[in-house]
Amino acid sequence: RQARLSGERQATYSPELNARMVEKHEMERQLREALARQQFVLHFQPKVDLDQGCITGAEALIRWQHPGRGLLSPGEFIAVAEETGLIVSIGEWVIQAVCAQQAAWRERGMPTLPVAVNLSALQFREGRVRLCVEQALRDNGLEADAIELELTETLVMQNPGEAERTMQDLRQFGLHLSLDDFGTGYSSLAYLKLFPFNSVKIDRAFVTDVSRGEQDAAIALAIIAMAHSMRMHVIAEGVETQEQLQFLRRAGCDQIQGYYFSRPVPADDYARMLQEGKRLQPTPQLGLMSAP
Ligand code: C2E
Ligand code: MG
Ligand code: MG
Ligand code: MG
Repeated sequence: RQARLSGERQATYSPELNARMVEKHEMERQLREALARQQFVLHFQPKVDLDQGCITGAEALIRWQHPGRGLLSPGEFIAVAEETGLIVSIGEWVIQAVCAQQAAWRERGMPTLPVAVNLSALQFREGRVRLCVEQALRDNGLEADAIELELTETLVMQNPGEAERTMQDLRQFGLHLSLDDFGTGYSSLAYLKLFPFNSVKIDRAFVTDVSRGEQDAAIALAIIAMAHSMRMHVIAEGVETQEQLQFLRRAGCDQIQGYYFSRPVPADDYARMLQEGKRLQPTPQLGLMSAP
């Protein structure tokens, strides 16, 4: 009985938990190494204007070229990076890398379209985002419109007063701010209007079923109407089908981002899309689609 009791008491030190902690430590070590050895890479996913059909910019999405495990998605390492605080250094690397890439593209004669960067809550709270962006832009001879910032509602809700002040400062510097993953954090757009966002991104969770489910369609329509009344642009994330595209176009959504147009791709592939002038095809009328 004694053994069982102590076994229960030690439940928090289970082998599985211990293994997870060791794994986390090992990943932390590897993440530090990844920073030092430049193992992170950025992929770029185009954002497309629904009226013009053209690419208006991109979102930079980090990947980790892991020496033993191949190309890892953020889902496989961002959580540990946040828990260990390494996300701050990683986030600063992303800002530097985006600006360096923009300068390289410019050197090849490409127009500078804005590239959006995702900010983690820790990096935002740490308070050096503006300084970091300012320096990266200056180092690469770029203006503030070369970079945009994506913030989640969870991030701004953690400390609304401070978030608002930081955001005002970033806006004054000339940066475009987007509200990422909107709809997943349960806050109302009416409340979020207190923050100086330029645009709102409807989360993929609500986009997936817009052409099928009445509820998601209603939510998407409401977000678009409210955002527009607050003079914000609306981007739909995770658009995968022509039906979704058609719905969003009719609903007056401004831009889309999603596999339907392009997955996130390496820098050279994105540059090629821009050079070739890749566009969204006009959606056919439903009547014509079923015509013989
Ligand atoms: P996010 O900022 O909401 O980025 C959009 C995610 O949706 C990306 O996943 C993208 O690949 C995926 N996506 C885009 N279109 C589609 C689609 O049509 N269908 C589906 N199924 N998915 C689509 P990814 O690249 O795995 O990134 C996941 C999250 O990791 C991002 O969500 C963002 O929160 C975070 N993240 C990515 N890069 C960074 C970074 O540099 N810094 C920080 N702090 N977070 C990052
Ligand atoms: Mg994002
Ligand atoms: Mg998002
Ligand atoms: Mg999302």
